Amino acid sequence: MPRTALAAVHDGHGDRLAVREIRVADPGPGEVLVRIAASGVCGSDRHVLDGEWSLPTPTVMGHEGAGVVEAAGPGVTDVAPGDTVILSWYYPCRRCRACAAGKAWACTGTRANECLLPDGTTRLSDAGGVVYPYLAVGTMSEYAVVPESAAIRVPADVPMDVASLIGCSITTGVGAVVNNARVPAGAGAVVVGCGGVGLAVVMGLALAGAYPIVAVDTAEEKLAAARSFGATHTVRAGGDVAGEVAEITSGGADYAFEVIGRVGTIESLPSLLTTGGVGVLVGLPPQGVRAGIDVLELAESGKTLIGSNYGGAVPSLDFPRLARLYLAGRLPLDSLISHRVRLDEVNEAFDAMRAGTRTRSVIVFD
Ligand SMILES: [Zn+2]
Ligand SMILES: [Zn+2]
Repeated sequence: MPRTALAAVHDGHGDRLAVREIRVADPGPGEVLVRIAASGVCGSDRHVLDGEWSLPTPTVMGHEGAGVVEAAGPGVTDVAPGDTVILSWYYPCRRCRACAAGKAWACTGTRANECLLPDGTTRLSDAGGVVYPYLAVGTMSEYAVVPESAAIRVPADVPMDVASLIGCSITTGVGAVVNNARVPAGAGAVVVGCGGVGLAVVMGLALAGAYPIVAVDTAEEKLAAARSFGATHTVRAGGDVAGEVAEITSGGADYAFEVIGRVGTIESLPSLLTTGGVGVLVGLPPQGVRAGIDVLELAESGKTLIGSNYGGAVPSLDFPRLARLYLAGRLPLDSLISHRVRLDEVNEAFDAMRAGTRTRSVIVFD
């Protein structure tokens, strides 16, 4: 039976979200209705609200969420009502070459980036017509209808607020370390930018056994947080970062992660690396941004720059894996959540993100 849901909706102008009712239709074939329990407030939403990325509107924002399956459409076999699930914001088509190669993050058949279900429609509407779920999940809503390939079952004893973070920031950050860079134990690493995803990179490096782990940020509170998640050294941005990193790592890091998406820090990433080092681009800039690098220096010193999207993850494999690591005490995800807020406090949570004053806000639904 169709239902209404309170949701945080972006109407396409300005950076304020309207918390209002939308209609949610029943799940179609291969789709599931999820009652959202928690949604993280993650950086990609801010890019959209601040006009840096364009989207179809109106859009239910939120892409980092977890909840419980309430109903399954015809033909659904992966999950059943009552299952605890984490939502993936890049549902795989399971038919394209990338999917066949086990690279769900590189799927070319998904319509997630168009904010559409596989059949090219959505199950959300309001009086004005179609409403789009951001990245086909739209987690800042009491209910979401997603393809079953976007709903990944995890153990029910993972708290929902923690589970929501696995849906984006943790997978993005830890995955950049273990899937994209494949950092070996004992490698020296530096992380530039210690927001939610940057701290997840630090956690991933600690998990992988990197040493030293150098965290760089402008804010002392974020550096303190980075130390609590495993950073062995911290450097305050603004001074001679490359010189300090070279000293701590005895000549440059083996791996350097940029987790801001800012041109200046992307351009300086190679200067943090030792010969043969690998720079990993995790932070996402606004659309159309270009960066300049010293190509001769990069080539002569045999350095590599790689991109990392969604931590190179296969959510159906990585979400349960990360959940188990959390349950085993190997990923301190509770400490990452600095604020639990209500849906109607969503605009304040984005303002705090813009000001850089919070580690991570999570919207918790009743
Ligand atoms: Zn995110
Ligand atoms: Zn695919």
